[in-house]
Amino acid sequence: MINHLITQKNWQTQLSEAITSIDELLVLLGLESLREQVYTPEHFKMRVPRAFVTKMRVGDADDPLLKQVLPDNQEQIAVTGYVADPLAENEQNPIKGMLHKYESRVLLTITGACAIHCRYCFRQHFDYNANMPTSAVQEDIIAYINEHPDISEVILSGGDPLSISNRRLFAWLDTLESIEQLTTIRLHTRLPLVIPERLDNELLERLAQSRCHIVMVIHCNHANEIDEHTSTYLKRARAANIMLLNQTVLLAGINDDVDTQVDLSLRLFAAGVLPYYLHMLDKVKGAAHFDADERSNIELYWLMLAKLPGYLMPKLVRELPNRPFKVPVDIYKIN
Ligand SMILES: *Cc1c(COP(=O)(O)O)cnc(C)c1O
Ligand code: SF4
Repeated sequence: MINHLITQKNWQTQLSEAITSIDELLVLLGLESLREQVYTPEHFKMRVPRAFVTKMRVGDADDPLLKQVLPDNQEQIAVTGYVADPLAENEQNPIKGMLHKYESRVLLTITGACAIHCRYCFRQHFDYNANMPTSAVQEDIIAYINEHPDISEVILSGGDPLSISNRRLFAWLDTLESIEQLTTIRLHTRLPLVIPERLDNELLERLAQSRCHIVMVIHCNHANEIDEHTSTYLKRARAANIMLLNQTVLLAGINDDVDTQVDLSLRLFAAGVLPYYLHMLDKVKGAAHFDADERSNIELYWLMLAKLPGYLMPKLVRELPNRPFKVPVDIYKIN
């Protein structure tokens, strides 16, 4: 019933009504007992839309969706090797708001805003204000792409690129589609899982009409994020000819066991999404408690290989600074 009332609202309303009070969240979930182990961050505050909260289990302190958003005291423990900018991205901006690390594709951070704040996020310390492409730099971006004929794909990222309005997003699409050498536009977004109504008809129709291939990489970490309602919206996106892929971050205590990963792949497939990447955690400050050691991650991967069809196996990768691709993890190291 509560669920139904929330999902009747349009996505902008849902976005503005996201829960930012830790007390409110704990009361809603009947978990006031957790008050002791959480804190109120000054930066990268807690933020979670209600539609996502309805997918959490009431009374379960170990809920895998709750753990992704609840600011745990452990974030405040400094751990050697976990730093503010683990990918040294601040050094790879040829133009404000553009990252060019890989030969054929560039990534644009078109907004710093996200619908949800994921505690493991590697961009949580990123200075978006200093790094947002303004309309003035759009010209520079077009010129840069023209000067680099190897670039065939532009990735819209952020923040979450679907947190901006359709009007602003369509302006980006118009600009990119006018660049002849581009064949593909990709969106990396978590919004379809957090507020499925974001995949509204206006957006899907616009994407279906694009002259470019449209790829949408959703960031789903657990099968519980895809309920029937979410699945319906994802299938609509598929029907609009959008290639749907998923990337997951391996998170200790949330999804680092074989049953959880198998369920995730199967649930994604049922919703029309193929697994793409399984990322080892980027070593960002405040997220050390989500990290699992490499050996157990590799063992997990072997167990998945034995259970899943090849087309439902994500690639196990880690991102390393100054490498021209996401680096496949050497799974033969232990077998
Ligand atoms: C991840 C990433 C890409 C895309 O890489 P794929 O392997 O094509 O998914 C492109 N640019 C940057 C800066 C990235 O971090
Ligand atoms: S949606 Fe993505 S960019 Fe935003 S906080 Fe979560 S992981 Fe970070």
